This record gives sequence, structure tokens and C-alpha cells, in this order.
Amino acid sequence: MRRRQRRRRRPERDSGVTDPERQAEAEEAASRLFSGPVDFLRSAPQLQFLPDPAVPEIAFCGRSNVGKSSLLNALTGRKAIARASVTPGRTQELNFFDVGRPEDEGALPLFRLVDMPGYGFAKAPVKVVEKWKALVNSYLRGRQVLARTLVLIDSRHGIKDVDRTMMTMLDQAAVGYRIVLTKTDKIKASDLEKVAGATAAEAKKHVAAHPDIHLTSSEKGMGIAALRAAVVADALGEGWMG
Ligand code: GDP
Repeated sequence: MRRRQRRRRRPERDSGVTDPERQAEAEEAASRLFSGPVDFLRSAPQLQFLPDPAVPEIAFCGRSNVGKSSLLNALTGRKAIARASVTPGRTQELNFFDVGRPEDEGALPLFRLVDMPGYGFAKAPVKVVEKWKALVNSYLRGRQVLARTLVLIDSRHGIKDVDRTMMTMLDQAAVGYRIVLTKTDKIKASDLEKVAGATAAEAKKHVAAHPDIHLTSSEKGMGIAALRAAVVADALGEGWMG
């Protein structure tokens, strides 16, 4: 029951911290958390290899080459926690990372990041696409602890049809998601404003999309601190300040 209520909550109520002082505090607390332990837990090529659903999870998805590995590395302040983009065959897994390890031996992490397999490979064989769909869909639909998904969109290209398919899958699974524009250092400010506006307008048409669009550059660090704070708030609740 609780899960349904949480997931179906209207996105407007989730709007982020607006008070600048509180925002700065939240960003600092999130940064402290991510500068602590972040450990690779396991890869799950199939559902039976998922870890026990014991702590909240935040999943990351996007077209291959969107900058997902770079964003995960930037958020966690690590150089290579997530592998840089590789061939289609190697990316058909859900990769789990533990964030925050309490002192007690054997205690659970505070939450987990989940690196989902990239989509939209131009030359991916039908079988690979089908396997991706089955794995991702079952994970999204069955994962009670999934607190939020981040859908990454390359700011140079905006939302593409493959992203729309992903967004619709999330809408239908009733999994709330944030849209994150990546590589914003690569385009002019005026173009970024246009693409951000178009993305926000499209997000409004998707029931499970958060209304705020995150503008990020893993290369220059733009938007990373705010996204870190949003991820921690999504996983642990707004009140968490470590
Ligand atoms: P993935 O396939 O989604 O994991 O994408 P990667 O993180 O491997 O990034 C794909 C390419 O985009 C790499 O060459 C990265 O260096 C580059 N890239 C990723 N993020 C940024 C960014 O914020 N700015 C710039 N300029 N390049 C980026």
C-alpha cells in the first residue's frame, strides 16, 4: 500500500529545496555522504542476481554514450566507479553500488545506486534489445525499494524517441523519475535554454516525470552538487542531513 502511495504521489509535491541556505546545507551533507564509502556491490545480468531489496535504490538510465558513467563518477567523486562506455554485449547488466557504510560489521549501506544498461545502440541485434527490455521492465515493475530513476538526456540532442519509450515504460511502471540533461558545457547558453524549455514542456506530459529538469556537466561540475542533494533526498527523505 505504502509503495503505491509514494510512487503515485503527484510530482509537484516533490519539488526540491527552495531556501538557498537549506539547499547549501543539503548539498554539503550530500557531498559528505558521497565522499564516504561508495562500493561496487555486484552486476545482475538477470533478475535472480539482484541484491535483496533491503535499502532504497536510485537508478540511472539513458542512451549509450549519454554520459552516464561520467555522471556516476562525478556524483560519487570517483574517477572510474562506473565503466566508460563499452560495446553493447558488455552493458546488459544492472550494476549496483553501495553508498554509505555504517560502522557496524555487516550493516546495510544507506542506499544503492543502480547503473542500468544503456539503450539506443544503432546496431543492437533484436535479441539484445528484447533482453534489455525484459530485464529493465521486470526490474522497474517489481522493485519496491526503487525510490527514483534518473533519465539522462544529451543536452545537444534533447529527448529522442528511444528516450520517450523509456519514459513511457517508467510512467507505466509508476516509477518517478528526474530528467537530467548531460554535457551542458558542449552547447551555447541560448541553445541550452531552448532545450531545457522543450524538455520541461515534454516532462509535463509524463505522469511520473519530476517537473524540475537538472542541467549538468560532469566535465565542468555544473549541476552536480544539486543533483547529489536531490539523489540523497530521494533515497533518504528531505529531512536527511547527515
Ligand atoms: P555512457 O556510455 O553513457 O556511460 O557515456 P560516458 O560517460 O562514457 O561518456 C561518453 C562520452 O561523452 C565520453 O567521451 C565522455 O568523456 C563524454 N562526456 C561525458 N560527460 C561529459 C560532459 O559533461 N561534458 C563533456 N564535454 N563530455 C562529456
